[in-house]
Amino acid sequence: MTTPPSIITLDGPAASGKSTIGRRLADSLGYLFFDTGIMYRAVTWIALSRDMDVRDEDMMNQLAQTAKIDIRPPSKNDGRPCDVIIGEQDVTWDMRSSDVEANVSLISAYAGVRKALSQKQREIGLRGKVVMVGRDIGTVVLPEADLKIYLDASAEERAKRRYDEVIARGEKADYDEILKNMIERDHIDSTRAVAPLRPADDAVIINTDEPSAEQVFEQVLKLCK
Ligand code: C5P
Repeated sequence: MTTPPSIITLDGPAASGKSTIGRRLADSLGYLFFDTGIMYRAVTWIALSRDMDVRDEDMMNQLAQTAKIDIRPPSKNDGRPCDVIIGEQDVTWDMRSSDVEANVSLISAYAGVRKALSQKQREIGLRGKVVMVGRDIGTVVLPEADLKIYLDASAEERAKRRYDEVIARGEKADYDEILKNMIERDHIDSTRAVAPLRPADDAVIINTDEPSAEQVFEQVLKLCK
């Protein structure tokens, strides 16, 4: 049997299936699953909770350099893949709020924020045996990755998935608002000057509109063998 690729990157727009597929892949290979979106969301959550001006780029850059974000194994069986702790506060679900989603792409576009967070991501990724998920992992964070995958799907399908997720958590959701926010976020993420969302030239692009999560997973697993 051949050895599976050691560094695997999984990029794509919001709700394209990256986390579901990435987590399953990491589990089946015995690799670390690392969702880099958590870091950008956590910085955004801190800025909002401290009433900071998210348009102040220098302040956001400094915040990203000093933020202490703790990621721990899940303490509750409520669908969370991990606990995200800031200070002593469990922000795992707060970080997924529409407030955070409305501001995260603005903060993620700042060069200083990206530099601080992607350096940490790169250090972890270079240890190998990792499935790292994000927007710029195959292009900027780990361009030397052994296998790069880019998942894509229509905005409508992705918004539907996100809507179903929120409802499943017992929270209220508005499909139109989710769709609008997602299109806006994708636009900022893919047009920013630094590390925009795009597939790496050597990435395998998979459209997840039609196939089931199971079929996508099988396809990804085949690429690893
Ligand atoms: O993946 P998730 O939806 O949690 O990411 C939240 C936001 O974090 C994205 O919309 C994007 O602005 C930012 N992000 C990024 N680069 C990454 C991961 C996430 O800019 N590698």
